[in-house]
Formats: sequence, structure tokens, C-alpha cells
Amino acid sequence: MGYQIDPESHGFILPFSSAVQFHGHICPGLAIGYYASHIGMRWLHTHISDNSEILVMVENAGCGVDAVQTVTGRTVGNGNLILCDYGKQVYTFLIKGTGRGLRVSLKSEFTVDRLDPGLASLQARVSGDEATPEEVVDLPHRIERICRAILETPGDVVFDIREVNEEHRGRGPRAGDVVCARCGEPVSTDRAKKEKDGYYCQPCQRNG
Ligand SMILES: [Zn+2]
Ligand SMILES: [Zn+2]
Repeated sequence: MGYQIDPESHGFILPFSSAVQFHGHICPGLAIGYYASHIGMRWLHTHISDNSEILVMVENAGCGVDAVQTVTGRTVGNGNLILCDYGKQVYTFLIKGTGRGLRVSLKSEFTVDRLDPGLASLQARVSGDEATPEEVVDLPHRIERICRAILETPGDVVFDIREVNEEHRGRGPRAGDVVCARCGEPVSTDRAKKEKDGYYCQPCQRNG
């Protein structure tokens, strides 16, 4: 697969195949997250001296997140990748402590439904064992075609890209634990709800 973004000319960025390997399959969401991360990393590297300064905010919890983790090295666990699941293909690459960042958001013309309106129903038929053998063979080709359409188009055509100024501190210091009054399990203080008779974890609040 050839890319408009030409990963070879930016040796510090892992190729798309690495993201596919990490994610477990090739899919349009991964291509979108990969391309956004590629754009974000190129911008960051002209502004920072050290990867530890990178903070990424992703506005979905889908396939693209795995591409972000592969390319930027930021992870949910290390607190430098913030997930806000708004269901949007928006990726913001921030320089920690400065408020400066690059916001990369998918244009509506490049959503999967616009690139291949029949894909969602085909995927549903394939996963429901209702597709013809021809359709089953066709599915991976259509997915690859969409990925190509995204990755082989100039970044500023696929995305709205703009510099932003917004303060994100990332995750704060560990809050310490309390014990849930209902289930007796330890829970981070900042995730528990304080009631008159003690703290409650969120599953217990819901089931209470
Ligand atoms: Zn995927
Ligand atoms: Zn509980």
C-alpha cells in the first residue's frame, strides 16, 4: 500500500503496518487514527525536544485509539492519552504544560459512510452469517479501498487541522483509595461517591 503521507520520509514514525499489527486487523478507524497521529507527530517534532512532553486527547474510544498508542507511544495507562468518548474522529496533540496543541478532526466527506455507503450493512451481513460467499470475499477489499482513500489523500483534504490553545494537565496525582460501603472493595477516592454512610463505587451506585 502506498501512502500520500510517505512514512519512509519520516523515519521516526512507525509505519501503518505496525498499527495494524498492534490492533489486530486493518480497518478505516485505524487508518484515520494513524493518519491523524502522523500529522500530530510531525507537528510536535518541530516544537518539542522530548517525547515526554506529548499529551494526546482522543474524542472516541474506537479503533483509532490503538493507532494513536502505536504512533505516539502515549497510552491510557500512563495517563498521557486522554480518552473523551464523544464518538468523534477528533485527535488533539498537545505540548504538556504549554496549552499549545494541534487539533486534527476528520472532515465529513471522509467518514466511512460517505466513502462507502454500503459498508456498514455489508459488515452486518457478514458478521450475521447472512452474506453471500462473494460478499465475504469482497469485504476486506472494500475495507482496504477505504483505508487507501484516506491514507493516499493529502492530510489537509481529509482533516481540518488547526493550532489550538487549551490547557490539559493530564491525569492528576493518585487520589488514594477508600473502601466501598456496599461491596467492600477498594475504590479510588476521586471515582467514588460520598454518601452520608460512606463511599460507594460506581457499579454499586447503579445497582443500589
Ligand atoms: Zn479496527
Ligand atoms: Zn461497591
